This record gives sequence, C-alpha cells and structure tokens, in this order.
Amino acid sequence: MKCTRCREKAVVQLRHHHSNFCRECFLLFFERQVERGIHKERMFTEEEPILVAVSGGKDSLALWDVLVRLGYRTTGLHLALGIGEYSADSTRKTEEFARARDLPLVVIRLEDEGAAVPELAAVTRRPACAACGTAKRHHFDRIAIERGFPVLATGHNLDDEAARLLGNVLHWQTRHLAKQSPVLQPTHARFVRKVKPLFRVTEYESAIYAFLRGIDYVVEECPNSVGATQLVYKEVLNRLEDASPGTKLTFLQEFLRSGRPAFAEPEGERNSGTCSRCGMPAYGETCSYCALLASAERRRARDAGDDDTEEREAAFGGRQRE
Ligand code: AMP
Ligand code: ZN
Repeated sequence: MKCTRCREKAVVQLRHHHSNFCRECFLLFFERQVERGIHKERMFTEEEPILVAVSGGKDSLALWDVLVRLGYRTTGLHLALGIGEYSADSTRKTEEFARARDLPLVVIRLEDEGAAVPELAAVTRRPACAACGTAKRHHFDRIAIERGFPVLATGHNLDDEAARLLGNVLHWQTRHLAKQSPVLQPTHARFVRKVKPLFRVTEYESAIYAFLRGIDYVVEECPNSVGATQLVYKEVLNRLEDASPGTKLTFLQEFLRSGRPAFAEPEGERNSGTCSRCGMPAYGETCSYCALLASAERRRARDAGDDDTEEREAAFGGRQRE
C-alpha cells in the first residue's frame, strides 16, 4: 500500500477519500481538512482569540493541537465535571497537554459551585447527560463572554455531527435541523459564536492524528454515555459507511448544502430575556443552568430540613411512636 501523495509506504487507509497516506502526508491532509473547513465556513480569523473547549479526549486535544500549528491564538477551557476517576484523568491529561506546550488553560471545577455532575443529576433527578449538557453550555458562554473571546470551538467531529443529524431526522426535530451547523452565530449579547472545526474529519481520523502526534488523551468514554442513543446512531452510520464509504460525509455535507435551508425559520429566533441570577440569556425568570442549581439547592435545603427535624426529635426524646 503506497501513499497516494508521495508514493512512500502508507500507514493509513481512508476509503471515503479513495486515499492512502504515509505519516507525514496524513498529518498534512488532516490539518488541511480542518483549515479548509474553517475558511469555507468563515469560522474565525487569525486575529480573533479563540476559546477551545478541551475535554481531554482525542478530538478536542487534536483540535487544539491543529489550531496552534495553524497559527491561531488559542486558550483552552476545561470543565472538571466531577465524574469520579474519569474526570480526574481528563483534567490531568488536559493540564499535561497545556503545560508541555506552554499554552494558556482555564480550568473550572464544577464541585466548587456545588454543581458536580453526579450531584446535579441526583438532586434534580434529571439524567446525568442532560444536567451535564446544561452545565457545559452555560460555562462555555459565560467564560467566553467574561474573558473577551468572540468564539468558542469544540471538538465535535463528522461522526458526532452525522449521528446528531440522524437523530434530528428520525424525530423530525425541525427547529434543531434549522440550527444544526458547524458555525452557530450568537442570538444574544451574552452568547458567543460556536464553531466545530473538525466537522469534516471522522472520529477515526482524529484518533489517528492524536496517535501520530503522540498526544496522550483519555481513551475511556464517559461512564454516563453507556447505552446512549447517540452511540446506536453512530453504529448504524458505521455499518452504512462500511457498505458504502463516504456515506457519512455526503449525508452531512448535502444536508448543510441543500437540506438545512429548507428548515430555516422565517420569523427568526424567539427573543430571550436575561436570567435574574447570573445575567445570561434566559427564556423565563432564570436560565436553565440556574434553574438546575436552584432545584439542587431546594433539594439540599429540604434534605437539611429533614435532618433538623430528626435532630429536634432526638432532642425531645425521639419520635412518638404509636
Ligand atoms: P462530548 O459532548 O463529550 O461529545 O464533547 C463534545 C465537545 O465538547 C468536545 O470535543 C469538547 O470540545 C467539549 N467538551 C466536552 N466535555 C468537556 C469538558 N469537560 N471541558 C471542556 N470541554 C468539553
Ligand atoms: Zn442563569
């Protein structure tokens, strides 16, 4: 197997691109794919400071690595979610990556505001992934706004975007279809532009990139993602891809080119107000993150109240039994 570009021995085969690459040519190919996506979708310019959301997984670390190599001005943002050993490992790998390259990194510990993901999920009785998503969206915008970043980049790849598209189509989520895009412009003064520079590369490609660059990333999936529907969509898409290489890329690219415009909402976004607690955009009195924190606080207060009752009862000689 020879490299399609330089005829040296190839180490990577990409059927959907009808290409084989040696190490050097693959790294170049990957960087160009990302760069082309950034330019074509006008994600950001070389002058803009970019906040990169880094989980410690292969995608976001590969993304950060590529952006730095392409000469962009980046700062990493990592949320320590408090999901046991998985989160500890993620934070450690992210910090090591930044330290080794002398890159600026902001780390936010959700525990510090009483909002570790397992706790939020338990006290609010909401699924962990829902609480986690709300917390991530909130902090991504908040930190970007507070520190003056006009744009936030995440490591979502082609597999993520194709799986999300399949889910949205299967449930005919027309509002979500109208908004699914590698670039999301802010709809509020306290939101920033969200971009997904890896939307043209597969999970496999970003894993190979991270491996060939010697990036040490967290291999385990989040323990909460076990059984997630998203993973089933990914499996289905991989079966289609095996039978017909290029399916994922065409599915997403053709959606963006001709499908999405058909769902665009003529009347535009709903106008939102401002959260009375944190000042971020909200449709009601508070934003969804503060609503989540408030219900966690109510739950804790109730639990503490119960403890008080028990203490009082203990002080008065215990509960009267009948
Ligand atoms: P996921 O939702 O885990 O598939 O992650 C999608 C993207 O969100 C990642 O590529 C990161 O850019 C970002 N992300 C996920 N988890 C974190 C985290 N704990 N801290 C910062 N960014 C994250
Ligand atoms: Zn709020």
